[in-house]
Amino acid sequence: MKYLLVCLSIFYCLLSNQSIGQSNTAQVDSSWKKTYRAVATKINNLKHTKLFASFNYEKSQMNGEVWLTLQPHFYPTNQLTLDAKAMDIKEVALVNGARKSKLIYSYDSLQLQINLDKTYTAKESYTIYIKYIARPNEYKGVGSAAISDAKGLYFINPLGTDKDKPTQIWTQGETEASSVWIPTIDKTNQKTTQEFHLTVPSKYVSLSNGILIKQTDLKNGFREDVWKMDLPHAPYLFFIGIGDYTVIKDSYNGKEVSYYIEKAYEKVARKIYGNTPQMIAFFEKKLGVPFPWSKYAQISGRDFVSGAMENTTATLHSDAVQQDARELVDGNNWESTIAHELFHQWFGDLVTAESWSNLTVNESFADFSQTLWFEHSKGKDAGAYENYTGLRNYLSSPTDAEKDLVRFYYKDKEDMFDLVSYQKGGRILNMLRHLVGEEAFFASLNKYLKDNKFSNGSAIKLKLAFEAVTGKDLNWFFNQWYFGNGHPYVRIQQKYLYDQQKVLVTIQQTQTQEKIFILPIGIDVYVKGKRDHYDVWSKNKIDSFYFPAAVTPDNVNVDNDKVLLWAKDESKPMKQYAYQFMHARNFMDRFEAANEAATNLKDPSAKAIIDAAIIDSFHVIRSIALNSYNPTAIDSVMEKKVLHLADKDPVSAVREDAINVLSKINKASYQPYYEKWINDSSYTVAGAALAALELLDSTKAMTIAKQFSTQTIKKRLNTVVSSILTKYGDEQTFDFIANSYAKLNIQSSEKFEMTAPFAQLLIKTSDAAKFKKGIDLIVAFREAIPQGYRTQTDPYFNFKIFGDILKAKKQKGEDELVDIVTAVLPKF
Ligand SMILES: [Zn+2]
Repeated sequence: MKYLLVCLSIFYCLLSNQSIGQSNTAQVDSSWKKTYRAVATKINNLKHTKLFASFNYEKSQMNGEVWLTLQPHFYPTNQLTLDAKAMDIKEVALVNGARKSKLIYSYDSLQLQINLDKTYTAKESYTIYIKYIARPNEYKGVGSAAISDAKGLYFINPLGTDKDKPTQIWTQGETEASSVWIPTIDKTNQKTTQEFHLTVPSKYVSLSNGILIKQTDLKNGFREDVWKMDLPHAPYLFFIGIGDYTVIKDSYNGKEVSYYIEKAYEKVARKIYGNTPQMIAFFEKKLGVPFPWSKYAQISGRDFVSGAMENTTATLHSDAVQQDARELVDGNNWESTIAHELFHQWFGDLVTAESWSNLTVNESFADFSQTLWFEHSKGKDAGAYENYTGLRNYLSSPTDAEKDLVRFYYKDKEDMFDLVSYQKGGRILNMLRHLVGEEAFFASLNKYLKDNKFSNGSAIKLKLAFEAVTGKDLNWFFNQWYFGNGHPYVRIQQKYLYDQQKVLVTIQQTQTQEKIFILPIGIDVYVKGKRDHYDVWSKNKIDSFYFPAAVTPDNVNVDNDKVLLWAKDESKPMKQYAYQFMHARNFMDRFEAANEAATNLKDPSAKAIIDAAIIDSFHVIRSIALNSYNPTAIDSVMEKKVLHLADKDPVSAVREDAINVLSKINKASYQPYYEKWINDSSYTVAGAALAALELLDSTKAMTIAKQFSTQTIKKRLNTVVSSILTKYGDEQTFDFIANSYAKLNIQSSEKFEMTAPFAQLLIKTSDAAKFKKGIDLIVAFREAIPQGYRTQTDPYFNFKIFGDILKAKKQKGEDELVDIVTAVLPKF
């Protein structure tokens, strides 16, 4: 599963810059700290699940009949407990050939306790029949940081009343929500084969796990689709999707690879999903384990509660995956998610975490796969940057440093979906890869997958696979990183000792945590243009290392491959950074040097770094250089370089950054350029150019913004047009802005960025109906943010956004509007 952290990190940035006051001083319940989360006991095991389902769009319910074949795990039993949430149970029977005999059961709206007809031994299997109605809207589950609720089965626009939204059905099982629509043992350590018979409206297509083996026209406007999965997987990976999609078919190695896409995006389906067959080929080769399943399909769901979900053979993406041709000019922003969910088909679906405590063996791998795929498809720099982004996100959240990666104590299973299971775990894998070597790393993953296929995994099993392959004791590594929390904070210092012709490097661990980390560190010492490499260990609070150096080193590069998961404070002269940049062996060498230079521009060595950085081969480095420029102190040579990048850089993000710099220089002579760039094929570049024009000629910018407001525009162009219309416009522009705000996906950062300008427009709006519509739209956004993040986002909405509107309306004496805002604020 993946929630878009791009958007979350923006939440964090925006929120930390706002003074929003303290919202909540309630007592914190910590009783969960005493509840050990055991792996679910296996009494009966699922073997096969056969479902017949039809869908009641009127009531948003599913009529189901299920045949479950089970077998006692070891001990004989005459009892069966199934998870079945908020269902209307009609019949429970034992199946004996063609005969059914009723069984006695009790039901508490969460679990079905069934008395079997006799005691079964571990050698006997039996089949249970249950007829029921699934009522997802009756289930009041709690959502998580990663998903916003847990209804399991979702009817989107079921009655077709919303003209702007297609009618769809999709399911979301993780963590334990499949049991809202199908009675099962909803635990990760159960695995079952399946056969789903779905009765769907003939005008729609369906998607489920496995292969579509039969379609029957029922001649009444409905069709029965039969989907079959011959290989066992866990119930949380069950999937049903139904809607009006075009199905685009690719293939890989004789297996179908398909993309279910809304018709409007049919033409760009391959631009979005088209790398999937190459990704499968790449991951198979790396892992030495062929893609395990019979097909691979990807579909998107409107109003999806997460970023994406790796249902076996049928990944569901948020509809944010659907980008139009012009959005794709900036690159496919869903590429990493596509890789992430695909990698789960091995790590998660083939080998499944034995319980949520060991979620790392699903999510850390999926997160790590993003680095692997970028490294392979976009080059080493892009891979390293993806790895760094994950590290930065984890390090930016101090509360996450308190959590173990494998956690047997947590408040809610949903809390496991955090920066530790994903980003930190992904970086730990990258570190392990470096520690044991590329070949041993993938041989170990191969062993882990083969040893545990169609079964369960854990950090312990992972450790055993690595130890078996490498012959090394890895207790220290797993204890430190998997079964312990935190990360090292280090202070790195160096001193040249003339008399000894040595350089002294000290590494001091400064974390307040008691524990000292064991860290294998690679150090490159460059003397007179020659590189010497040393491998050392930091195992104490302070370690001192002496390296030969006939003269002062050109550079001392600690953690030369830039793989360690740590927060460092390193002091070395800018001259060394300049040397590091010019002789960089990897992306992070340049990245760190460029960042260091960007904050110390007065140093002549820093200027040399920036001059090199602005023509670097990787766009991130060029952007660092651009953003370091001080517009008030820029010289004509630099200015020319910026203009060149604004006009010609192949990467739109760099063109955008360059235009931003030019706009701060604010010269009238650039106006013709801005007017040209406003027509750039990239929304991002066009938006930056329009924002720059506004500073020079707001009347012209307003005229152009009005023209754009009759077209489909997205991304930065949309936010800039909205902000100009809000600033200089009046209530006339309300409809355009309200509509574009309503259409933005909640996982897009634009929605968050657009909220404040939209609030400004509402301050200007005195029409009560329009005002209420606007307030409702912001409320809908506030409520749609997943629970885990709402403690941070709610105060922003309530105190900042609504607070400002309320204050303004009170001042204006618009009492009716004051009441409308007050009604959506929490009561204290
Ligand atoms: Zn995931």
